[in-house]
Amino acid sequence: MEQKNINGYEKNYEIKEHPDIKGIQIIEGKNNFPISWLNKQGYCEYQLYLEYMKGIETPATPEMTHGSDIHHQLEDIFKQDATPATFEEAVEASKDKASMSREVFVIAPEYGIRGYIDEIWMKPDEIVIIDDKPGRTPYFSTMNQVRAYCLAFKSMTCDERKMKAALRERGTENLFWIEIFTPEVEKEIKFTLERMQGLFDGTRPFVPTKNANKCRSCRYKRYCEHYKQE
Ligand code: SF4
Repeated sequence: MEQKNINGYEKNYEIKEHPDIKGIQIIEGKNNFPISWLNKQGYCEYQLYLEYMKGIETPATPEMTHGSDIHHQLEDIFKQDATPATFEEAVEASKDKASMSREVFVIAPEYGIRGYIDEIWMKPDEIVIIDDKPGRTPYFSTMNQVRAYCLAFKSMTCDERKMKAALRERGTENLFWIEIFTPEVEKEIKFTLERMQGLFDGTRPFVPTKNANKCRSCRYKRYCEHYKQE
């Protein structure tokens, strides 16, 4: 597949930083959060509260640093052979000829989301959106993350092609989960995004997990009033 390095967009938005929540931007009058937060929400909503509402910072774990290193290596290799293109050019050209791109920024102000797709295959008959993860377990939170990328891509392009969401074992070719982005899946992810918006506009509480195993390996446990030491 031809490799396209997407480096420009036709549309730009006026962005304001949220006065109280780190990482939230206000775009077209709506709170806009990074899609990767869906992954954190699935782990524990209270982590989101501690990190972004309270501004607590913790050092990156070795797994996080390792994952980021692999990510950058793949990105550098990709750029060596990729042709530059704007987002719109790449989408349009792929209707005739398949291409793949990495680190593709997507944004959907109407749903209050934005983020970077790890890899996207744009083929004449389908779009495949891939998120790289450590391990091979498709968690509900990681599935939701890649579903939200599909929603954002669809909202930007109004593309009618079949769309698939996929999770891939980081550093390999192994797509260990793949799903067609159906109208039912789209409805579900929109519902989840509404719930997320409720956290940031204060209409829903940040619910701490009840799973003691998650708390045990949580980076925020020493700052968390819900952590019960055994
Ligand atoms: S210690 Fe448990 S409840 Fe507290 S933020 Fe971490 S995972 Fe959530």
